[in-house]
Amino acid sequence: MKHVCKSICLLLLAVAAIACGGNGNGAASIAQVGDSAAVAKPRQADTLSFAVVGDIMMGSTYPVKKFAANDGAELFRDCDSLLRSVDLACGNLEGVLANSGKARKPLGAKGSFSFLMPTRYVNHLVKAGFDFVGVANNHAFDFSEPGVKSTMATLDSAGIAYAGNPHAHGVVKEVRGTRVGFCAFGHSRGTLLHTDAKLVHGIIDSLKREADIVVVCFHGGAEGTSARHLPDKTEYAWGENRGHLRKFAHDCIDWGADLVYGHGPHVPRAMEVYKGHFIAYSMGNFATTGMSTAAQTGYAPLAVLRVLSTTGELIDGQLYGFIQKGTSGPRTDTRGVVINDLRTLSAQDITNNELNIDEKGRLTRK
Ligand SMILES: [Zn+2]
Repeated sequence: MKHVCKSICLLLLAVAAIACGGNGNGAASIAQVGDSAAVAKPRQADTLSFAVVGDIMMGSTYPVKKFAANDGAELFRDCDSLLRSVDLACGNLEGVLANSGKARKPLGAKGSFSFLMPTRYVNHLVKAGFDFVGVANNHAFDFSEPGVKSTMATLDSAGIAYAGNPHAHGVVKEVRGTRVGFCAFGHSRGTLLHTDAKLVHGIIDSLKREADIVVVCFHGGAEGTSARHLPDKTEYAWGENRGHLRKFAHDCIDWGADLVYGHGPHVPRAMEVYKGHFIAYSMGNFATTGMSTAAQTGYAPLAVLRVLSTTGELIDGQLYGFIQKGTSGPRTDTRGVVINDLRTLSAQDITNNELNIDEKGRLTRK
């Protein structure tokens, strides 16, 4: 699979029609645009299902090895069947896939926050069922351009789509007759910036010409348990403009995006339906292997969303709660605190929210 991207990368993954909404792992045929050998276009399905999650950092070899049990093989054990049950499972890859590299940042007093995942760890993403990962975040450039290139080559070889840096503005996957375009934006060096409205608008416009549905992934906002509430203003952290995310997400929908999911604060934030389309302002950490798992930073929600394939509007969905402890990866939240947190935040921070989240995590439109 090649990511040939000067502007919009038109990578079509012609995923063979799967009767019951499987995500195509093992059944995908891959075709470049214009490939006459592409499979006949299947009839477009009426609905598509997505799963969205937040930050994924599966362990690091830098500065010292820090891995989960069994070389990370059990990280996604509680959620992989769920991720594989949807048409498209999406997350944020918070780090670099490379077997070596020179860190861009110096080691800090508390140790480095540079994440170097061995390339073999891409197999955990494949096994879990991920189809797309955003690479626009503040750790994608930890090992400079060689790290970026290694990450892209590794994802390419695994058949996982990605976007969010100057080499990868967008990507299109075809699933059950519906073309889905993905793009991703961040706030730091090496990423496509969500503060650049002209760039964001241009990429969404380009994807709209190639795809039926456009998904926007973003990394932004202040960080930590004091940043759980979504402000209605520009956020700053460590001197960086982290975006006016409410405006950004609404602009994306107004410009033609159909589904927007965010991450970056390390805690979950509110969700809403805006003009019929789903927005998650932060899915928090999902599998961060010992980084930030205390209190709400350990909350790892997973949202399954069913959308109309013609308009991209949300039909309904289901929230699933997971919690990380140390290097465990997401483990089923048996007490329902994650769903409860998202219900509370969504009620408090979104006025006239068109999204209803019930106590069992069911998502419906009002
Ligand atoms: Zn981050």
